[in-house]
Amino acid sequence: MGDVLHIRGRILAGPDDVRDELWVVGGRISYERPAAEAVAVEGWVLPGLVDAHCHVGLDAHGAVDRDTAEKQALTERDAGALLLRDAGSPSDTRWTDARDDLPRIIRAGRHIARTRRYIRNYAHEIEPGDLAVYVRREARRGDGWVKLVGDWIDRDTGDLAPCWPKDALAEAIAAAHQEGARVTAHCFAEDSLADLVTAGIDCVEHATGLTDETVPLFAEHGVAIVPTLVNIATFPRLAAAGEAKFPRWSDHLRTLHARRHETVRNAYDAGIAVYTGTDAGGGLPHGLIAAEVEELVTAGLPVEAALSAATWGARKWLGRPGLTEGAPADLVVYDADPRADVRVLAAPRRIVLRGNVVG
Ligand SMILES: [Zn+2]
Repeated sequence: MGDVLHIRGRILAGPDDVRDELWVVGGRISYERPAAEAVAVEGWVLPGLVDAHCHVGLDAHGAVDRDTAEKQALTERDAGALLLRDAGSPSDTRWTDARDDLPRIIRAGRHIARTRRYIRNYAHEIEPGDLAVYVRREARRGDGWVKLVGDWIDRDTGDLAPCWPKDALAEAIAAAHQEGARVTAHCFAEDSLADLVTAGIDCVEHATGLTDETVPLFAEHGVAIVPTLVNIATFPRLAAAGEAKFPRWSDHLRTLHARRHETVRNAYDAGIAVYTGTDAGGGLPHGLIAAEVEELVTAGLPVEAALSAATWGARKWLGRPGLTEGAPADLVVYDADPRADVRVLAAPRRIVLRGNVVG
């Protein structure tokens, strides 16, 4: 279980809980000085960061082999992301659970999309009549989450459009809740959001289509968002590539992109819970968690809120401990205070995973 560590400096155990030191003993956090000799580590300490939307085992073309998935997970780890919520993957990454050197993964099973309404090779592509059955199955396969594709381009209208009727959503989300799983959905546009909230959704990914009508609805129902701003930054490129074939869709993406920071800021101001996710594994590389925290600050979130979105708040939301007595020692040490400048997250000094110094 590695050496006994004595970590000194500023232990950022919570937004209002800063301590001077902690120890790592037997892979776990302790605030009591042990008798054993300890290796000293110094700096500013945060709980292992959370990438609440990434995909391990996936690339732009679909499922990848084990070596590639392992590299993806290691890249997240080396960026300080020690807890991943995998927002849908066609490959089985269950084998990583036995690996002490890889981040912990909370899986959402495989994406569930409408027939021919998502990226090829990613999702179960089904019709609304089968939605509840598939959701229940993925709820049982995953680690407490199910992932829907809530909207996507409709090639007939040439624009983003909702994928599911209201009744099918309500039945499917109820089935997931019965199985003890929460449900999240990929949504870029405006039109699917009210139906999803009414149907009982727990979280929305991207949520670029939030408006003055739907922001209060999300706040009232306690629906969280994971904006994935580092991914939304690619909208202009996608829009340019699709311009000739789907001009309405391209315009729509550009509009959503132009107001992305304002959208996130409005959501935060209304009391909607915001968490960090990078969407790595589809089009984007892994290891971008620090950039996403910086994006939340750019959007106008206070620094402590942006940090919480990647640490204390996100861990609580996912039901995983932070820097509490007896918790598994998953933490990151930095050279400087991330509360003064979140850009220090881009260069961790030490990474401790399950009590072992891994970076
Ligand atoms: Zn994704």
